[in-house]
Amino acid sequence: MAEKDTLTTAYGRPVENDQTSITTGKKVGYGLLNDTYLIEKLAHFERERIPERVVHAKGSGAYGYFELTEDLSKYTCAKFLSGAGKKTDLFIRFSTVGGEQASADTERDPRGFAVKLYTEEGNYDIVGNNTPVFFIRDAIKFPDFVHTQKREPQSGLKDATMFWDFLSLTPESIHQVTFLFSNRGTPADYRHMDGFGANTWMFYNDKGEHYWFKWHFKTDQGIKNLTAAEATELAGKDPDCNRRDLFESIKKGEFPSWTVYVQIMTPEQAKTYRFDPFDVTKVWFHADFPLIPVGKIVLNRNPENFFAEVEQAAFAPSTLVPGIYPSPDKLLQGRLFAYEDAHRYRLGKNHDLIPVNSPKGNRANTNERDGLMMTDGNYGSTANYFPNSVNAQSEARQIPDVPALALGEAMIARHDLEVVENDYYQAGELYRRVLSDTDRDHLISNIAGHLGGALKRIQYRQTALFYKADPDYGTRVAGALGLDVQKVASLAALTDTERAAATARDL
Ligand code: NDP
Repeated sequence: MAEKDTLTTAYGRPVENDQTSITTGKKVGYGLLNDTYLIEKLAHFERERIPERVVHAKGSGAYGYFELTEDLSKYTCAKFLSGAGKKTDLFIRFSTVGGEQASADTERDPRGFAVKLYTEEGNYDIVGNNTPVFFIRDAIKFPDFVHTQKREPQSGLKDATMFWDFLSLTPESIHQVTFLFSNRGTPADYRHMDGFGANTWMFYNDKGEHYWFKWHFKTDQGIKNLTAAEATELAGKDPDCNRRDLFESIKKGEFPSWTVYVQIMTPEQAKTYRFDPFDVTKVWFHADFPLIPVGKIVLNRNPENFFAEVEQAAFAPSTLVPGIYPSPDKLLQGRLFAYEDAHRYRLGKNHDLIPVNSPKGNRANTNERDGLMMTDGNYGSTANYFPNSVNAQSEARQIPDVPALALGEAMIARHDLEVVENDYYQAGELYRRVLSDTDRDHLISNIAGHLGGALKRIQYRQTALFYKADPDYGTRVAGALGLDVQKVASLAALTDTERAAATARDL
């Protein structure tokens, strides 16, 4: 048997020489198929890379805990939300969205904020971002949107025309575009930014009642952003600066934390709220639905191995616990399928067996069997069907079931959702009411710096959308780009279809 520290092959045979391959001559020589260790070593190396995530490829992660400070059992039967003081272990992965694995951490992009809670009722994933809204609100647009944020098919280059062409033809993106081009689109690091579940979710309790809710994670470190110039400089000096910051802070014992809040809306309030509460391009105003503090997240442990724990971490909004259920948000409905499916492709169907992904607070007990990379004994000799009269396996009928929802007006159809004036209002509020004068100056120059690289007709089309959000906003972007503001104003007055036609060729 090999000594503990002796180098071995993958099958445990001691390796007598790891420096010299077997060849036919001393200085030059042909290699031989019978050098099986050389073949094993090269073959494994060639397979080191797994498919990169199509979005959120570059990320960093850490372990920690969620501590409940407010009992939420009147809203939900989720056990990790019952009993103030309860702690639940978690793993968080932060990421950029559009860049490849080697891209710079400081790129202008939303940041992924994905939380995996190892609850006593199995894993619960909150797969959010550092912005409370998203660019689109129907999952069918997602692949097109992502294509435009990545690389142009012929040149393989990022392309401002493609980026803005899609966004300017997708006016519901205006709110998220305004976030993205404010300095919150370039956070200083992962510790100094907020997180949001973004989509609306349902809490249900043991009385059969339900509530709609949203997650908010507010950084206790304070918000810190980069200017465009600082972000560009850091991209050259240290493209991994956010990963470094997170890892080194935790290593030094400076544990980042976030205060966790929920906004809660009753089903009655949802019927009359002036914004569609399930539309992910909108927030619920704080004045209408105050933030309720419910807990704290603390990150206090670095992973031991980046690939095993960060790269192989698999988050999916479909990973839920009893007491939490999806809302009819049309983007969320697509996400419920796409994330888990991405991991089936990237890591294989048995990715739930990878330690970072497997439940810790409750053991898995399924009748799912076999499949590629089944590595944990496959439930041995136990029966693999239910109901059965062999194993002691039962359903948890005592847990409150998902409440029955009346869908009185439901009709199966392709329900078009036109963009209306109300879709511009919240972007306008961000610009008018929330941003400071300096924030607005940066927003305008950040937009001009990027949109200026697109075709002129697309600059006009997009600037008309800024004008619709707030005339001052559109006027200032037009000024920074040298556009004729009268033309912008008249494009803003057109319908979306008319504006698309009017900007289909050079103006
Ligand atoms: P409030 O006026 O009560 O609070 C302003 C919100 O905007 C805070 O959440 C604040 O986050 C955030 N914020 C501050 N500066 C910026 C910035 N430069 N870029 C992006 N966000 C910023 O919010 P309301 O609910 O009345 O909503 C007004 C507008 O604020 C909305 O239209 C939306 O654009 C934006 N907003 C709203 C949120 C919500 O959930 N209601 C969440 C985030 C933004 P912080 O406290 O961390 O500084």
